[in-house]
Amino acid sequence: MRKNYLLTPGPTSVPSDVLLELAKPIVHHRTPQFAEIFHSVSEGLKYVFQTKNDVLVFASSGTGAMEASVVNLLSPGDKVLTIKGGKFGERWDEICKAYNIETFPIDVEWGKPVNPDDVRNILEKEKGIKAVFATLTETSTAVVHDIKTLGSIVKEFPAVLVVDAVSGLGAVDIQTDNWNVDVVVAGSQKALMLPPGLAFASVSNKAWDLAENSKCPKYYWNFAKARKSLKTDQTPYTPAVSLVVGLSKSLEMIKEEGLENVLARHSKLAKATRAAVGAMGLELFAPQSPSDAVTAIKVPEGIDGVGLVKTLKKKYDVMITGGQAQLKGKIIRIAHMGYSDTFDIIIVISALEMALVSLGYNLELGNGIKAAEEVLK
Ligand SMILES: *Cc1c(COP(=O)(O)O)cnc(C)c1O
Repeated sequence: MRKNYLLTPGPTSVPSDVLLELAKPIVHHRTPQFAEIFHSVSEGLKYVFQTKNDVLVFASSGTGAMEASVVNLLSPGDKVLTIKGGKFGERWDEICKAYNIETFPIDVEWGKPVNPDDVRNILEKEKGIKAVFATLTETSTAVVHDIKTLGSIVKEFPAVLVVDAVSGLGAVDIQTDNWNVDVVVAGSQKALMLPPGLAFASVSNKAWDLAENSKCPKYYWNFAKARKSLKTDQTPYTPAVSLVVGLSKSLEMIKEEGLENVLARHSKLAKATRAAVGAMGLELFAPQSPSDAVTAIKVPEGIDGVGLVKTLKKKYDVMITGGQAQLKGKIIRIAHMGYSDTFDIIIVISALEMALVSLGYNLELGNGIKAAEEVLK
């Protein structure tokens, strides 16, 4: 018998209560029964997004809602600021360019958070920037960016602030309304404890005003149509019915635990993971501003990073991920978001210790576990 442990930064594992909801017979989407579910989901999303604005729901992976944000807010030839510094920040830049939008990128060093002053400087210098594209947790480097400060800067300018919170929302605090974030994008398969397949976008009044003049081509990804349908608790096209039903359960679980407690749990799990890393003689990849959703660890000298991830999977059935692009083989990433608790951390740290020893790394078994336990106890 072998048991699988999924500790990747998406998809993440799904609680059995949610899995049972997903197995239920399909409800037709044009019925009062579905409308009632969709209504409660909309309310639950507002709670997790910490907003009074509508949260639009699309059937797609997270990138769909990123592209939707670009095509609904902007027109070809518009100027925008993009914050790079990892795969996902780069994705904003790529999507904008695909629609002939002129980007002014900030090339943040991978592993570092953006300096908010750099954003202010560009907004002051380049008049007419319509939007700033940022990331909450840059999953490829495990950095959390200071969205609160970015919000306080961008609100002084005509530009809107659009934040990719796909990996972050429900794990890391993002106070959409309080922090003046105009569009927050999220996906189902990270901290929201669902399979992949749903994407979300909350839209502020400032963003709706900008959207009125948008000339980018769009059909399925139409915010205005989605908002109109939302008034009758519907979506314009067939929703991913089972995922919406599952979401209603996972949102109920978050509400029951309380968002504050959910965030505190993530913070503790992340702290324990970071403590274990230090105790094992390893180094964090992003020590300056580490996210509570995922931890990136430098692969120690003499160890093959790709082989380490493979060993964890092959020998212990523990699935984590390595680095992407230029970080391939150089870091490993452990997620602790969503349906994640004390013993997920113990399992992954234990497996990591054993795998490292089996690959010849000099380490005393149990040091990492002990440090994690000191935080978790
Ligand atoms: C996972 C993730 C996405 C979305 O990727 P999809 O594969 O399209 O769901 C976007 N941004 C960040 C920061 C992510 O972690």
